[in-house]
Amino acid sequence: MACEECRIGFHKSGQSPIDIDDKSVVSTKFPQLILTGHWLNDGYACMVNNGETVKITLTGDRIPSTIKGGPLLDDVYEFENVHFHWGENNCRGSEHTINDTWFSMEAHAVHWNRKYMTFAECLNHKDGICVLAFLFLATDKNSFWSNFQLEGITDNLKYIHEPEIITEIPANCLYWIKSCLTAPSYYTYRGSLTTYPYNECVTWIISPKTIMISASQIDEFRKLKNDKNEKIKDNTRKVQNLRGRRVFLSC
Ligand SMILES: [Zn+2]
Repeated sequence: MACEECRIGFHKSGQSPIDIDDKSVVSTKFPQLILTGHWLNDGYACMVNNGETVKITLTGDRIPSTIKGGPLLDDVYEFENVHFHWGENNCRGSEHTINDTWFSMEAHAVHWNRKYMTFAECLNHKDGICVLAFLFLATDKNSFWSNFQLEGITDNLKYIHEPEIITEIPANCLYWIKSCLTAPSYYTYRGSLTTYPYNECVTWIISPKTIMISASQIDEFRKLKNDKNEKIKDNTRKVQNLRGRRVFLSC
């Protein structure tokens, strides 16, 4: 029986996620990567359990959050959502791996290219979407430490255990993104959505700066349920072949 991607007739030349092998990345100088607005405390943020993941959107009276520069040529990409991928335990919950090493969780900040006018249209273009990816590592179960910058999200997950429930969370709940971008470099490559229909429309930008999260904070994600009333244990896609693509490291 054909795999899901073959069944839907999708090209599989440039799929995501991938393993990033430091031995084969190409160091490249890009223009400065510029993010605007993601961590402002204006308007409000909504968090929903959509039955597959936790999705955060920013709305209300605030400027649009955008990303430009870096490998994005002259285009401006506008923020759509942040969502998370996790696994059954803290050893394996990221989608991307680095040097065959898994992380505990991965966040995706999805942006769409303004030149295509709508998010839906962006899915049809190879430069339609930019996803910033952040990798999390859980602390030891016995640690009392927690990452306070994530508490605006993790303290409110208890309100959305059931699918399709939405809750309002602090407008500056993405403040942790700011500290990740102080890293001197990032990985970037051309790939796909990691969920159906796997369109090859994504410029991936992956922060190599690991974010620490407590084991109890990450446990809150595993309490969420899907529409079959089962806990969402693992919402990651397996690593895909690079198939001749290059991964760049900004310098
Ligand atoms: Zn994702």
